[in-house]
Amino acid sequence: MNDDALDRLADLIARALVENTRQRETGARGATWLPSPVRPAPPDRVGEPPTWTGAAQDLADIAPSRQREEPPRFRASTAELARATRAAAAGKGSPPERGKREPERRLTRQRASNAPSIDVRIGVSNRHVHVSATDLQTLFASAPLTVSRQLTQPGQFAAGESVAVQGPKGRIDAVRIVGPARGETQLELAASDAAVLGVEPPVAASGSLDTSTGGVTLVGPAGRVELRRGVIVAARHLHLAPVDSRRWGLRDGDRLDVRCGSGPRAATLHDVLVRSGEGHATELHLDADEARAVGVKTGDSATITAWRSPATGRRPLITERDVVRLARDGGRIPVNAILTPSARDRAAALGMIGQ
Ligand SMILES: [Zn+2]
Repeated sequence: MNDDALDRLADLIARALVENTRQRETGARGATWLPSPVRPAPPDRVGEPPTWTGAAQDLADIAPSRQREEPPRFRASTAELARATRAAAAGKGSPPERGKREPERRLTRQRASNAPSIDVRIGVSNRHVHVSATDLQTLFASAPLTVSRQLTQPGQFAAGESVAVQGPKGRIDAVRIVGPARGETQLELAASDAAVLGVEPPVAASGSLDTSTGGVTLVGPAGRVELRRGVIVAARHLHLAPVDSRRWGLRDGDRLDVRCGSGPRAATLHDVLVRSGEGHATELHLDADEARAVGVKTGDSATITAWRSPATGRRPLITERDVVRLARDGGRIPVNAILTPSARDRAAALGMIGQ
């Protein structure tokens, strides 16, 4: 292209521009240039958005949830949020703040109720007496105890022998001796037995005789033993085999809530003491009064519903590795355990807890 051609082209362009400007200014039709687009004014948005946007839809109408009685979470209307956000964007206010999120209490409750419960066998202890070797000699002369029946606790047996117990107010015959002989004589009564005898023994753990009372006389075929101490109402307790102690995460001295019975008198007994160690077989020991009150008998099962360790306030921490081990050994997640997130996921996947 030479200079001549360039001049002609520049002339053409200049003519076209002049013509176009003239046409636009006079409103003439046929302009070759597109008009600038005009943005339509937005409608006044003061109410809820139109229904077709779906933004105002309350899904609860379509899929009613079971948690309708729960107080609804704070939720601003869409219009309110939009207004506040526009105002903030225009520098006329601060953006709407999302309410602090409530902890998901419902979920926690649900998890708690789905937590596995541990069932244990109940053994009802009737009144009985553990006798020292010395007192045994006094009561029965030289005769050794005969074994009438082995008890659930290894090595312990109901002896064929029994004694009468004389108290200030009354007498109870045929109180069974539980062998073998112990270091110190201990008479375990139900509260109603104590009332018959006319004594007021404390509720105490078996073997803890510091607070025990006396004032009763054991009467055997060969002699009498006056007890200055050793009379207790045995505190309800759970004997726990070491293997169960390990897999349930419960330890000697822990306290449990245990639901007993299924009938109209079913009740949860609190402060059930855990006795664990070698020589214990897992069994919940209640006395005759307690068993009658909640309508259970030996061989029934009770359910551990809560767990605490009064000494340390400790709750067992379960890791994913623990969950795998428990699953392999057929164990359970301990009551009240704290699970790490990965442990919770693994336990849920294995069906050991609710999702
Ligand atoms: Zn016991």
